Amino acid sequence: MRLSRYFLPVLKENPSEAQIVSHRLMLRAGMIKQQSAGIYSWLPLGLKVLRRVEQIVHEEQQRAGHIPVLMPTLQSADLWRESGRYDDYGEEMLRITDRHKREMLYGPTNEEMITDIFRAHVNSYKDLPLTLYQIQWKFRDEIRPRFGVMRGREFLMKDGYNFDLTKEDALHAYNRHLVSYLRTYERMGLQAIPMRADSGPIGGENTHEFLVLAETGESEVFYDSQITDLTFGDRQIDYDDHAACAAVLEEFTSRYARTDETHDEAVFAQVPEERRKSARGIEVGQIFYFGTKYSEPMGATVVGPDGSRTPVHMGSHGIGVSRLLGAIIEAGHDDKGIIWPEGVTPFHVGLVNLKQGDASTDSACEALERELSARGLEVLYDDRDERAGAKFATMDLIGLPWRITVGPRGLANNVVELTNRRTGVSVELSASEAVSRLA
Ligand code: ATP
Ligand code: MG
Ligand code: MG
Ligand code: MG
Repeated sequence: MRLSRYFLPVLKENPSEAQIVSHRLMLRAGMIKQQSAGIYSWLPLGLKVLRRVEQIVHEEQQRAGHIPVLMPTLQSADLWRESGRYDDYGEEMLRITDRHKREMLYGPTNEEMITDIFRAHVNSYKDLPLTLYQIQWKFRDEIRPRFGVMRGREFLMKDGYNFDLTKEDALHAYNRHLVSYLRTYERMGLQAIPMRADSGPIGGENTHEFLVLAETGESEVFYDSQITDLTFGDRQIDYDDHAACAAVLEEFTSRYARTDETHDEAVFAQVPEERRKSARGIEVGQIFYFGTKYSEPMGATVVGPDGSRTPVHMGSHGIGVSRLLGAIIEAGHDDKGIIWPEGVTPFHVGLVNLKQGDASTDSACEALERELSARGLEVLYDDRDERAGAKFATMDLIGLPWRITVGPRGLANNVVELTNRRTGVSVELSASEAVSRLA
């Protein structure tokens, strides 16, 4: 992509409405534009990262055997009356009346609708286990939308729902989600710690929230510092293996890690003092097992092996897809701008031409762009007629992991400069070496 033909409306000034660094940097890097309180347009650069985050979520969900669906954003109030939540949900629900005076709502979550799909089509225990998920926009009329996409009113969520014959199977689905979430967040360069949480209005027995530690997080968390040494890494796991998934849950949840809602000083006091930490965290996901809370009132039953009908055991599992962009930036930036992890970067490499219009520099840049693209790397080529300093500032702001700088002086010695955004370290090498270093 050539920057001269792209749409990257960077801001020079710090937007005064942004209180935290991720919000500030998303606005300055031209990723989003606010349209109303907590409602954003996604500009090209922001959309690219959002799509990469979504892609990782899809891949890891499908690796775990979960099946994608897509439900509408608008739902009928009648469905929510069946579960009893229409009146309970309160002011966070955006209620809408259509021209025929039918009551509708913009979905804040989809337990009712997915249960409706299930009961319409599934009859037998032989069709279980089943986990359906979607990545879809949600609306919650948050009393105080703030921090950009971190607490929006319209936001993108992955929401998945498991249907199982027994509680034991549903708890396996819970564990499977925990494993898939660990993999998902690590691929985005994040450490998200599963913490025991409060089930709140969705109701349920087992629930964990995943928190990314960050000063700007809205949750207060308490944990045993040993937990930050754990990584899932590239282990292979058989998602059908109940014992293997349960072992991962045990490994990642046996140490003390709780949000303020479930924090217990007496239990915390048993952690050795030097390992007792309190901090702030950003909730980037949550998993729930809630049994038959929706299947019973809504009649989502299956015929079991003994021929009798039983309500299915369910859980729901969310990932804050759009919030993750804020969390990733909170976890990766410096005073010059964003530092994207390789897994979600909008472009792999930025190409800076120091002397636009100089025939040999231009053609060296064009050749590099071609060769990098041929190797499957996405290149953002700054071909604008701008000062070097301005080009570097833009690249640093938008945070691509690598920059290649091409100028007449280097070319005279057959070298270009390859710079790592995170370390700031630059090396001079030939153009072909630079390509093979990145490919
Ligand atoms: P919070 O405690 O931050 O209000 P929640 O517990 O109400 O979040 P869930 O119902 O668990 O949210 O939804 C699943 C995920 O969706 C959350 O873990 C979070 O990452 C994301 N999410 C929830 N509300 C918002 C919001 N207003 N803006 C952006 N993402 C959100
Ligand atoms: Mg909430
Ligand atoms: Mg919460
Ligand atoms: Mg939650």
